[in-house]
Amino acid sequence: MKAIKVTEPYKVEIVEIEKPEIKNPGEVLVKIKAGGICGSDLGIYKGINSLATLPRIIGHEFAGVVEEIGEGVEGIAVGDKVAVDPVVSCGECYACTHGRHNVCSTLEVIGVHRDGGFCEYIVVNYKNLHKTSKDTPFETLCLVEPFTIGAQINSRGQIGGDDTLLIMGCGPIGLTVLQIAKKNGVRVIMTDLLESRLKMAKEMGADRVVNVKEEDLYTAVNEFTNNVGINVVVDAVCNTKSFEQAVEVTSPAGRIVVIGLLAQPSQIAQAGITKKELTITGSRLSNYKFHDVIEWMDAGQIKPEMIRTHMYHYTEIAKAIDVAVNNPQDVCKIVIKFD
Ligand SMILES: [Zn+2]
Ligand SMILES: [Zn+2]
Repeated sequence: MKAIKVTEPYKVEIVEIEKPEIKNPGEVLVKIKAGGICGSDLGIYKGINSLATLPRIIGHEFAGVVEEIGEGVEGIAVGDKVAVDPVVSCGECYACTHGRHNVCSTLEVIGVHRDGGFCEYIVVNYKNLHKTSKDTPFETLCLVEPFTIGAQINSRGQIGGDDTLLIMGCGPIGLTVLQIAKKNGVRVIMTDLLESRLKMAKEMGADRVVNVKEEDLYTAVNEFTNNVGINVVVDAVCNTKSFEQAVEVTSPAGRIVVIGLLAQPSQIAQAGITKKELTITGSRLSNYKFHDVIEWMDAGQIKPEMIRTHMYHYTEIAKAIDVAVNNPQDVCKIVIKFD
């Protein structure tokens, strides 16, 4: 079968490998139909993702159809259309036994720490599979994974009710956070440097968008919140400065959700956190959010297809990656098809 492999930095190849087989109880063979390209796939491509070693079959946002099931598989049948949760955890460490398996001490992510879903077939444990009974196209079903990231962020920030929410950055993750927050009736202001991204945020229901190249963030926030400050900030820009700004614009008793994996420190004084008694929380991957996201999608409460801007056949992977790396102003989410 064919697989998309990053063999060395800046080199992606379509390789021929052996089709995987079910070897253990609980395993399922999935024929992959579509997958989304994520920023972390591009990080692996560039050789700057510290979690992945090369060579690596990339892809952690993918969906397909169940082709064969092993012994002891429950709730999944041949022919089911499934999205795949890429989180693999031990079930025994502190995080796992406290309901937080997404930060397992020996966490592995399919497509990052181990080979991923940009190939024709994969064998995974049935517990990682989540099915839809609806006629959702695979090029949309594969986008459930990024929405689980947005769901996790909403949950970690306890975003809801009468909150005002600032999402810094209108990339794919910022936009998934937006769609879920809007579903819950939250007022949202979003920032970016690119007009095309801000336009997408508007279309997905952002109440106010700010191009921080042209407009002052603090003035916009004061206007939006009647000088109260933002109750919850999601920093999806993830640079040293954005984290510092987040602490400044958050209201007393507010929350900040951090999702960056940057190693450089930000300069944040303790007083800025203490005086307002801020809660700063990390959010990583997702903690069993696939079920909820598929339910919202099937009910039409979120629209994953709205973040998709490009589609390519897997044989065009080099072109797809080139577009993603060199035309960020045009690209939100690229989907690769495997038919
Ligand atoms: Zn991703
Ligand atoms: Zn664990």
